[in-house]
Amino acid sequence: MDTIVLASQNKHKIEELRATLAPLGIELKSTYDFPELEEVEEDADTLEGNALKKARYVCKKTGLPALSDDTGLEVDALNGRPGVFSARYAGEDARDQDNVDKLLDELAGIPMERRGAQFRTVAAFVTDEDSYTFEGVCRGMIISEERGSGGFGYDPVFLPAAYKKTFAELEPEIKNEISHRGKAIQKFYDWVEEQK
Ligand code: IMP
Repeated sequence: MDTIVLASQNKHKIEELRATLAPLGIELKSTYDFPELEEVEEDADTLEGNALKKARYVCKKTGLPALSDDTGLEVDALNGRPGVFSARYAGEDARDQDNVDKLLDELAGIPMERRGAQFRTVAAFVTDEDSYTFEGVCRGMIISEERGSGGFGYDPVFLPAAYKKTFAELEPEIKNEISHRGKAIQKFYDWVEEQK
């Protein structure tokens, strides 16, 4: 396994993972290296389903092992919503700000002790023969107003457990270390190392 294709258009994700996998002697390609790839509709009803769907498509089209990830914010007081619908919580073309506004509206009046939430990422790795998934969870809570200007998505309202800064206030290196995505990718990394 010398080359893996990441099923993502997100340049930040690509660069970060490229640096992570380089010490293992793995070259990371992305969908930018395969312009013929089409965007995969994320219409599965679970994070696992979407992650596997994307990786399966890219593996089939490129003939190379493929990695993808899908993330959701699961809010306890909303019975796990928005979950797999996190990107389009406030509608099909919702911007991050629309989603955050909707979340704060839905949680209005709910006291701090009942605002627990988690980000969950499922990374899927698909080869010709097999498929594997790796899960990362980051627990925390949804605060009642936005804080910080870093990150993206729901970062300004997510306070990770045992931290005083939101994801949007934390240094990116720290966020990456404790985050759902960081943990899922770490599990994948450990698994690749074991295969060597
Ligand atoms: P994706 O699967 O990485 O595309 O994430 C789906 C949606 O979850 C995004 O549109 C964001 O709204 C949200 N999301 C994913 N990761 C994060 C994060 O690290 N911080 C805040 N929001 C995130």
